[in-house]
Parts: sequence; C-alpha cells; structure tokens
Amino acid sequence: MTHQHTLNQGLNCQACGGEKTMKPAKVSKMSPVVQVIGWLLTIPSILGILFSGFIFLSSLLATGTAEDPSVGGAALVAGTGTAVCTAISSLIGGLLGYILIMKKKVWKCNQCGYHIDRD
Ligand SMILES: [Zn+2]
Repeated sequence: MTHQHTLNQGLNCQACGGEKTMKPAKVSKMSPVVQVIGWLLTIPSILGILFSGFIFLSSLLATGTAEDPSVGGAALVAGTGTAVCTAISSLIGGLLGYILIMKKKVWKCNQCGYHIDRD
C-alpha cells in the first residue's frame, strides 16, 4: 500500500498550476513521424545483423567443404568481409533508429500535458 501511495502522489505542475497533477510517465523525445522512421531503420538493421551472421556461417561451411583450399580461403575472406560490412552498416542504422525511438522518463501533467525530466 505504501508503494501505491507513492505512485498516487504527484508533483505540482509549473505550467498550469495544478496541484499534484504531474504523474510518472514515459514519453518519446521525437514526433510520431520520426519514430516511424526510427522503426524503419531499426527493423532492417536487426535483420541485417542476423543476415551477416548467416553469411559468416555459410562462408565458414563453404571453406570447410571446398576441395581446393585457395577457393575455400577466398570464400572465407569474401564471406567474412561481406558479413562484417553488413553487420557494421546494420549496427549504425540500428543505433540511429534506436536514438529516434528512445523514450525518456518524465513527470507528465495529466491536465495540460506539460512534462519535465524524471532522472
Ligand atoms: Zn499542467
């Protein structure tokens, strides 16, 4: 019950002057359009990282099964290079996307929507 009491308490709103109308909430830093762009960056990057792992594994398999060692070595170099490039570009895209969809903790007023950082 003590925890419930703490959550039910609020801060006084500086914008509209409401008493204890500010409650803990999470809001996005960005507008909805930017968040959609963030997801469009993040989802392919997750797939890209999985795909780069797949390229790497299949190049390892190709190396192991190639009859000519030089062909196997070339496959491993090409496969690893492709995998690393895909992984790096995916990570950069995913990081950008994550920044766009990241949420922050705030106190938000339920009367006027005004919010302040909660950290
Ligand atoms: Zn307010």
